[in-house]
This record gives sequence, C-alpha cells and structure tokens, in this order.
Amino acid sequence: LSRSVVPAVLLLVAACGAPATGEQVKAPEAALVGVTMPTTSSERWIHDGENIKRDLEKKGHRVDLRYAENDVANQVKQIQGQIAAGAQLLIIASVDGSALTQPLQQAADAKIPVIAYDRLLRGSPYVDFYATFENFRVGVYQAESLLTGLGLRTPEGQPSSAKGPFNIELFAGSPDDNNASFFFNGAMSVLKPYLDNGTLVVRSGQTDFQTVTTLRWDGETARKRMEDVLASSYKRNKVNGVLSPYDGISLGILTALKNNGYGPVFPIVTGQDAELASVKSIIADQQYSTIYKDTRELATATAMMADSVLKGRTPPQLNNLNDYDNGVKVVPAFLLNPVSVDKTNYHKVLVESGYYTDDQLR
Ligand code: BGC
Repeated sequence: LSRSVVPAVLLLVAACGAPATGEQVKAPEAALVGVTMPTTSSERWIHDGENIKRDLEKKGHRVDLRYAENDVANQVKQIQGQIAAGAQLLIIASVDGSALTQPLQQAADAKIPVIAYDRLLRGSPYVDFYATFENFRVGVYQAESLLTGLGLRTPEGQPSSAKGPFNIELFAGSPDDNNASFFFNGAMSVLKPYLDNGTLVVRSGQTDFQTVTTLRWDGETARKRMEDVLASSYKRNKVNGVLSPYDGISLGILTALKNNGYGPVFPIVTGQDAELASVKSIIADQQYSTIYKDTRELATATAMMADSVLKGRTPPQLNNLNDYDNGVKVVPAFLLNPVSVDKTNYHKVLVESGYYTDDQLR
C-alpha cells in the first residue's frame, strides 16, 4: 500500500508502537497532561479541547484543560500553573505563537515535552512535535473557491467562461499566528496571476499581508475594516468577492456588506472552520464557502502522539518533508488534510461524516 491510500491516523497508530530512541522521561501510566487552548469565542477550539480531553482520558490520562480567552499573559500563567501542578506533557494551541518562550524554557527545565497544537510555537527550541493541517493548502482552497464562486474557474479546476475584471478585497488572520501567513501565501499563490493580468482588482490597494491582517481573528475588527474599505474604495463600484481566512471574520465582512446595502445576492465570501453559523450562512446563500478541518482527527492524532511520548516511545515523524521551521528549530510535524466546502458538498462532507446533524443545520 502506498502512503497516500493509508489514512494518516492509521499510519500514526502503527508507528506509535516504535521503540524509544531518544532519552525520554518515563511517566506513570496515568499522566497529567496540561492542555491550553486560545479561546472559547470560536467553536472549533471548544471542540478541539473537548476532543483532546476525551481521547487522552480514554487512554487513562488526566487532563487539565484551560482557555486563555485570547489573553497572552493569561495563557502564560495557565501553562506555568500546569508545570507547577506536575503536568508530564503540555499540549498548547497558542494565542501568540512567539510569546511563550519563557514558559517553554520552564517546561524544558522540568523535562516536560511539548506538543504545539494546530498553531506553531515559534522562537523556542523546546517544542517537540507539531500537529496541524496542511495550512498552505487551506489558503489555496480558499482562493480556488473564490475563483469558482466568481465564475473564473470550474469546480474541477478548469478555466471558466467569466472574464472579469472582478473587484475583490483580501483579509488575513492574526499576525501573531504562524498559520495566518501560510493561509495568505497559499491563497496568493493562486490569486497572483489573476491580479497581475487585471482579471482581479483590489480597489483598496491593500494587498500586503501586513496591511490586511485581523488581530486575534476578531470578526468585529474585520467588520470595521470592511466598512472602511467600502467607504473609501467602493463609492462607485461594487465589490464582487472577499478572501476571508476564517468564518468569524467572514460573518463580520457579511455584516459590513449588509450594512452597506448588499444582498440578497452577495459577493463571494470564503471562510474556514465550518462553524455552525457559517454553514447555515452558506445554506442561506450568503457566505460562499468554508474550509472544513476535522478537529476530531487532529485531536485523535495529537492524543496518540502524547500517549506515545508519555510511554517513552518516539512518536512517528510521518511527514519529514513537511517539517516546520519555527525560527530556531525544525519541528517534526504531523499534517492533516483540509476539505473545501460550499453549498454543493456541505451535506456529504459535514452531515454524512457525522460532524453535524441535519437538525443542527436547520
Ligand atoms: C486555525 C484556524 C482558525 C484560526 C482562528 C488558526 O490558527 O488554524 O482553523 O480559523 O486560527 O481561530
């Protein structure tokens, strides 16, 4: 069997039996694992936290799960509290990926291994593993769905009949989240030729990552920026599409559009995370698309990794080619695949997989 036909999680299960190679602190069977998540303001992190906790508890471990509510100092305190409480492993989805070097040093001093969850921890050598999705690909899918929605590309990836030019605006995620630039660069790799040849036009002129970021992925911040852009650059023109990196931002953008007289037919607005409100918005023909990341799979993979580290085994490094450089260390990364979702496939991808029920989406 080639690697491509073996589900990633199965490969992980098989490889988790590998004997220890490096020096590991041997933990008792039931270890205390400290899990810190960025915020409860977005559904995905609530699911991530619950899923990791459940998966680790099934393996007999105890879990201390904390949410930092997007406050960096709070997250530092939570991690330090977990170290003081005797945690034997830390799983961290950071608020600011570069702001945790001090607690990571403290974890290293106490010989506590660290797994970066979904968001890379930067600037510290004390990050043992990283579990995430193919983040560049997320951005590619977002841009491709923008092109499909505008009629410039068929769903199969062929050029389509529409000619443009179309007016689009660009939004990126939080500048302190390593993922944000991966999403943006992935999207721009697809959009650039269309921008270069004038098929797509950004009337605001705001095309650099730094000028389009949205601190802490905040929907309200995105709404304000969209209102400003509409006021300054769209007095005489209409915007046809908006690249949005995350569902919470997409809903903010749609609110700005509604406040400015757009609808019932809306510009093409992308998203990410398949959050309930956005899936409903897609069904209602408002948001155009989202990117589904099965956080159950990410949690399961991470819990397996954690369990094997705790048992003194070396977790598999399945994706050597996709290792992530955090500025001072290349961190072995386990990568899962995202799925592009719009009105044509949401039922198959989200309902038939059991992620949502039909009732939830009504
Ligand atoms: C995650 C995305 C999420 C965003 C906002 C990123 O780090 O990878 O799935 O949309 O944070 O929470």
